[in-house]
Amino acid sequence: MNGYAGRILRVNLTNGTFTKEPTPAALARDFIGGRGFGIYLLLKEVPQGADPLGPENKIFISSGPISGMLIPGGGKCDWTTKAPLTGGYASASMGGHFTAEMRYAGLDSIILEGVSPKPVTLFIDDDKIELRDASDLWGKNTFMVEKQFKDKLGEEYQIAVIGPGGENMVPYACVNHDYGRQAGRGGVGAVMGSKKLKAIVLHGTKSIPVADPAAYRKAGMALYKACKEADGLKQWTSYGTTQVVSWCDEVGALPTRNFSAGSFEGASTLSGPYMREHIVITDKGCFGCPCPCGKYSRMKKYNSNVEGPEYETIGLCGSNLGIADIESVAQANLLCDDLGIDTISAGNAIGWAMECYEKGIFTKKDTDGLDLKFGNVEAVFTMIEKIARREGLGALLSEGVKRASKKVGQGTEKFAIHVKGMEQSGYATHNATAMLLSYMTCDVGAHHNRAWAITYDLQVGRELVVPEKVARVIWLQNFRPMFDVLGGCRLQWVELNIDRDLYVPALEAITGIHRSWEDLEMVGARIWNLTRLYWARENEGFGRSWDLPPARFYEDAPKSGPTKGQITKFEDVNKLLDIYYEQRGWTSNGLPTPATIESLGLKAVFA
Ligand code: SF4
Repeated sequence: MNGYAGRILRVNLTNGTFTKEPTPAALARDFIGGRGFGIYLLLKEVPQGADPLGPENKIFISSGPISGMLIPGGGKCDWTTKAPLTGGYASASMGGHFTAEMRYAGLDSIILEGVSPKPVTLFIDDDKIELRDASDLWGKNTFMVEKQFKDKLGEEYQIAVIGPGGENMVPYACVNHDYGRQAGRGGVGAVMGSKKLKAIVLHGTKSIPVADPAAYRKAGMALYKACKEADGLKQWTSYGTTQVVSWCDEVGALPTRNFSAGSFEGASTLSGPYMREHIVITDKGCFGCPCPCGKYSRMKKYNSNVEGPEYETIGLCGSNLGIADIESVAQANLLCDDLGIDTISAGNAIGWAMECYEKGIFTKKDTDGLDLKFGNVEAVFTMIEKIARREGLGALLSEGVKRASKKVGQGTEKFAIHVKGMEQSGYATHNATAMLLSYMTCDVGAHHNRAWAITYDLQVGRELVVPEKVARVIWLQNFRPMFDVLGGCRLQWVELNIDRDLYVPALEAITGIHRSWEDLEMVGARIWNLTRLYWARENEGFGRSWDLPPARFYEDAPKSGPTKGQITKFEDVNKLLDIYYEQRGWTSNGLPTPATIESLGLKAVFA
């Protein structure tokens, strides 16, 4: 099958067996790859009500037809599982070089199932597949383990590894790869830990069949040329995602002190240019990327190095915690990566705890003696370690802010910044209705990458609640995650303004199937509806109430900054949902109607 390695590897960790199954042609036709494969397999293979950390849950690692190909950004793979953080759907995109190597080993997907009786590493070298004892690696941090494998086997081996956070099944533990890339959100690392799988080590030398090599070369070159000639290339490769720090601060979107404001007095020393001048050593990119957004930094103060911090980490582990020192933010980034926990959820949880402390709800008795006020860098470092090891207050924070605030009560739920149990990523959404709706309806919880709509808010009027805004969010949700289906990076389109139609001939040349973006958006809509049905299948009573945003954004206006005094009224929150559900073809409780399921051809899939 052109564009596919042709095999799915199933690894049963309980009995240590491997099977290779042909990649079903119908699956490739209808769901293409990546998160399309992920949601289909999750629905079909993980039984309703499965414990996310039990033997019935599985991890589906899937590439797409442009993964490992000479197409800009073709280095992404999707990790789908039932999320320990939310009890719903988790899909985390991971960059780097893992997915290319997976394809060269002849695999489109890897399915991890069961639970190993002891810690193991999955070792794949083309057709040689083994589970190797990893008892000596259990307890070790991610960077050390990755280096150990690279030193022993060679740089060409690609490694995905969990740290103590994953081993201890912190619900927002991540999987690390390439010393700084992660499958970050929703707790994929915890599921890997529950399976006693410490690492996956990959190497491959096979090729992927292509329908029309000459057309593939031509289309790929056109995409590279467009990237290299893009006006935004210099800015993007200089600063990566950190280019938006100052902009977010100016428009009141920079999460500050647990999202109580959207502007931070220390933003200038967290900005992209400041970071580039003071700590960045070099740029770092994923497989085949012509515009590397990763920044490798040196923290002299701590005698350490890290890939990062990127914008989200600066927002959540910097301004959100009242920290203006970029070296300290980078060090927090390093600690999270090395211990294997998501910087976004960790920063958000610590921010919530700091607000509890400053409000007198927590005293030093609750904080293990730490002076947990905003801006206390050492306290943040200690809390990160405690979260990963689930010690003291860290055990509570490791649960995520939804569960933690429910346990503590005393009104702390009102400033627990999450949707569906996933901590909100780096945009304060006071009076930014499209971005707020994007978070409310995101298919994994409060994550920004499905529909980054905040610029649209600024463009058309941030307080407006109109059908056009909702339509924009839906279009983005159907379109942007398609890059996670194709196995590529969306940032060339987002940041360099590459014409998306340039991908169409490339995809056709690789797979031999012509698909317009309208066709691809239809696949996106089908996936979006399936993920919604999955949430409803797994959570009794799932519906509108699950889509409500944190009370902070409709009750608690910032006291300073550009959004001072601004909120979205609760009636407007509901109006957004009314319009959204109508446009999606969902009931007033937010569930796809039978007619919508039928019209998208999902009846047979969701049987
Ligand atoms: Fe990776 Fe960044 Fe390039 Fe995307 S733009 S492929 S995330 S380096």
